[in-house]
Amino acid sequence: MVTSEIPPLQFTPTEEIQERISTLRKTFFEHKTRDVEFRLVQLRKLYWAVKDRSQLIANALAKDLNRPEFETVVAESGWLENDIVFVTRNLHKWAKDEKAEDIDLTWKFMNPKIRKDPLGCVLVIGAFNYPFQLTLGPVIGAIAAGNTVVIKPSENAPASAVVIQQICEAALDPSCYTVIQGGVSESQALLAERWDKIFFTGGASVGRIVAKAAAPHLTPVVLELGGINPAIITKNANPRLVARRLLWSKLMNAGQICTSQNYLLVDREILPLVIQEFKNAYNEFYPQGAKASPDYSRIINENAFHRLKAMIDNSKGKILMGGTMDEKELFIEPTIVQVDSTDDSMIVQESFGPLIPILPVDNIDEAIRTANAVMSTPLGIYPFGNKADVEKILSSTRSGGAAVNDSALHIPTLPFGGVGESGNGAYRGRASFEAFIHRRPITTSPSWLEAILSIRYPPYAGKTKTFKAASTLLPDFDRDGQKVTLGWLRYIFTLGGGSAKAGASRAAIVAADPDTDRKE
Ligand code: NAD
Repeated sequence: MVTSEIPPLQFTPTEEIQERISTLRKTFFEHKTRDVEFRLVQLRKLYWAVKDRSQLIANALAKDLNRPEFETVVAESGWLENDIVFVTRNLHKWAKDEKAEDIDLTWKFMNPKIRKDPLGCVLVIGAFNYPFQLTLGPVIGAIAAGNTVVIKPSENAPASAVVIQQICEAALDPSCYTVIQGGVSESQALLAERWDKIFFTGGASVGRIVAKAAAPHLTPVVLELGGINPAIITKNANPRLVARRLLWSKLMNAGQICTSQNYLLVDREILPLVIQEFKNAYNEFYPQGAKASPDYSRIINENAFHRLKAMIDNSKGKILMGGTMDEKELFIEPTIVQVDSTDDSMIVQESFGPLIPILPVDNIDEAIRTANAVMSTPLGIYPFGNKADVEKILSSTRSGGAAVNDSALHIPTLPFGGVGESGNGAYRGRASFEAFIHRRPITTSPSWLEAILSIRYPPYAGKTKTFKAASTLLPDFDRDGQKVTLGWLRYIFTLGGGSAKAGASRAAIVAADPDTDRKE
């Protein structure tokens, strides 16, 4: 039965941790999770456990973050439900053996295929800001791929952590999936164990701790980190669109969202218009002000509040909008600050709050140079301008993802992840499944192939020429690295480079480079 009560968060006793992991490892080696039907049943039960608790999820986030219910439906319960339906609809297709492609004729007789093997027993560590989506999202992929999973929600969203545990315990087989609750010491006890993969969402400094803990066991790690994401606004941008879209992305969850922009680089030519449109949009979104609005979240805790306050207090910039705060309520008003340097306290770190620093620039080239200097591999980049501007920005920068004329937007079924300092690995949709499998190539050498395969056995004398003739691929480029156009006859001879045309290929190679043959 689903109750509306959310009891206080209880940390898992550290002495229980090892035993729980041993159970999951044992289950993995009993091959219970290999069965795709078993995985599907787990995912379907998870769907109903989430759906039946959508109100509880909204209550938990109202408690943890004062989050408006609409935002929770969009980005947590509704998101997870759709994700599970999408994965369950496609799982049989993704999980089945893949016929190997890009191989030549000789190998085809070995019936090569790629099997999608589960990795084993994996650890998922979640962040506080979208606790359901970011903790259970990777878990969906891990279950779909056939792993056993230890789930560690963030202790900083305690009500959500409790509901995550309730969902998992109501839906999932406890011999395969378990929730460990805790803070730093429980996380570190988990990280001391050997895992087959660790999937971590959080800040870069803890990301480094996770990567170090994984190294002794050579455990692969997905790191979903944050970043100092720029929005670049050229003189050709539409100021109203810029303001509405960037204000939306920065005020959702009171700016505690890894994909939103952290600072704006705005062409001086349209700066006054952009600022005016921000004020207009703020009045439209929150006619009674953000504090009185039911549609505006609060900061997660006092530490985060003080960090954000210090960013504003230490800034040398000028506040153009907002700036009020209330510590008792953990409220920070959406605040626009015009700064004059990337060294300003508003830009040097990821804000993870409703702060909108604007740095004016002279032109698009200065914007690109600045963005690359602040952080050359952010999680997202958000260009606003005409087509040529956008192409120039995209082709001169790097980032985990990019949304043109928008911010924080990511299509839920496309791969999502950072690059460089904003992390590595990706998930969502099919990528969630792929993140937790090993692509295992399998070949089967039939006994009748022995006549051909016997070329590989010693003694080797006299075999080199035959081997080369059967296997050499003819280059379609010359010694200057230029592509050469093969005549139609040579094209036919060399197409695929496979053994069936080996004799002809060989003739063509010799014709192209007489030295080849002389060396033998
Ligand atoms: P965090 O790094 O403080 O915590 C994340 C998790 O790590 C929590 O479960 C926490 O218990 C655990 N943890 C904390 N300290 C630890 C330690 N010393 N050793 C081991 N584990 C430890 O992150 P957060 O405050 O929850 O989230 C904010 C950060 O996460 C921001 O930087 C944000 O950009 C990033 N983030 C990234 C994504 C993404 O998908 N790329 C999504 C959300 C948040």
